[in-house]
Amino acid sequence: MNKDVLVSAKTEALNVISNVEGTKCKQANNDSLYLGVFEDVEIAILKAIHAQKLLTTDYKEEDRERLINSIRKATLENKETLAKMIIEETKMGRYEDKILKHELAAKYTPGTEDLTTTAWSGDQGLTVVKMSPYGVIGAITPSTNPTETVICNSIGMIAAGNSVVFNGHPGAKKCVAFAVDMINRAILSAGGPANLVTTVKNPTMESLDVIMKHPSIKLLCGTGGPGLIKTLLNSGKKAIGAGSGNPPVIVDDTADIKKAAKSIIEGCSFDNNLPCIAEKEVFVFENVANDLINNMLQNNSVLINKEQVSMLLDLILIKKDEKSYNHNKKPEYNINKKWVGKDAKLFLDEIDVEAPTNVKCIICEVDINHPFVMTELMMPILSIVRVKDIDEAIECAKIAEQSKRHSAYIYSKNIDNLDRFEKEIDTTIFVKNAKSFAGVGSGAEGFTTFTIAGPTGEGITSARDFTRQRRCVLVS
Ligand code: NAD
Repeated sequence: MNKDVLVSAKTEALNVISNVEGTKCKQANNDSLYLGVFEDVEIAILKAIHAQKLLTTDYKEEDRERLINSIRKATLENKETLAKMIIEETKMGRYEDKILKHELAAKYTPGTEDLTTTAWSGDQGLTVVKMSPYGVIGAITPSTNPTETVICNSIGMIAAGNSVVFNGHPGAKKCVAFAVDMINRAILSAGGPANLVTTVKNPTMESLDVIMKHPSIKLLCGTGGPGLIKTLLNSGKKAIGAGSGNPPVIVDDTADIKKAAKSIIEGCSFDNNLPCIAEKEVFVFENVANDLINNMLQNNSVLINKEQVSMLLDLILIKKDEKSYNHNKKPEYNINKKWVGKDAKLFLDEIDVEAPTNVKCIICEVDINHPFVMTELMMPILSIVRVKDIDEAIECAKIAEQSKRHSAYIYSKNIDNLDRFEKEIDTTIFVKNAKSFAGVGSGAEGFTTFTIAGPTGEGITSARDFTRQRRCVLVS
């Protein structure tokens, strides 16, 4: 980017900011002034198209990196506000964990360094394959990681040279609007174009339909449940689908049980189990099961009995009608969304179980067919199933994971068990002897994403997944 363009972009940015300054202290009072947030989805798309054109013509890769760094900085500065807003709007999850999720998104989402060029040179000239932008991306985000996903997607998509139109979850639209505004301000203050990231003020299925059908939107990226992924994959467009999970954990009798218990509870209770990667059910060898449970009880957990399990079931699950029973004629359940992401203490109060206020996780022993094992609860409830050996453990874990190919975990020092489970479960994330968040770069090697694309195979998405291959040939 030349100096004049940078100066004029910065002047425009300062003008935009000063026009709204004063009326928008910390952006909290009048959301109609949010930058990049439009009443009309068509306008949101048109603005993003214009912004992307400017990004392509007037900005270089190093400029994009500067814009991204500004987004990272703004996210870190606003992490407490973002966490607070999410809790207020969605009424789900834990404040301190949401702060950590924003830190991860800001610090460890890859930028332009993720892009590579392939080249061949020889007697006949030079051929290069560049990772090039799609243009405008339509991105759909969940209520469970609303702004974390917006920030993470924005960094990766802009790094790759795209702009993005978000259709956030209607239940988190205020925090998504805040995040879009924050990102636009960060971009403008770093001399970038306005509206690289846009959204519609009131996201609906209709606004999603407009985004999906718009001829200028060439790539869709959806993070959410199975309904969303199905809709996107039926759109006739290229789509990246990051869908639901139900991650199992195996604990065998070679594992460090104390460490496993602590780590599983921390993973399961993180943000009240909202993350798709959070530990949902445990298959433990029967000769170490009591030891595991006793150690879990030392880590802010409460064990409930059979009768309390059935009370809890009535509270959090709703039986589907008989027509939808599965082929085994077993009832299937919907989760009672009212209870998603709530604190463990609230469930325990409801079923009359006394517990200290700092309780983080409810544990219960059930069998493999129990609905708690087979349903993605997204609540701090961990079901534990005793198994006799690794054969049964893997078999059960596969049943619970339901071929979602999302995430799975194991605690073991037996290399054969580690290898075998990894191959047989075939998930996108597989963590050995650590908690789920190690799979997205927390306390482990590797980068972060909030869009884990199992169904469409991109896996841990980053900037390169938001590019198309473009071959440029020079013949000598
Ligand atoms: P959700 O599926 O209800 O909503 C996600 C988004 O999709 C929202 O924007 C929503 O408006 C839209 N949507 C919902 N149903 C739709 C349909 N039939 N057609 C089109 N759009 C639809 O999910 P949620 O409750 O917000 O989030 C939780 C789910 O998302 C869980 O299943 C979780 O595992 C999954 N998730 C996956 C990842 C991942 O990276 N794989 C990350 C976070 C959440």
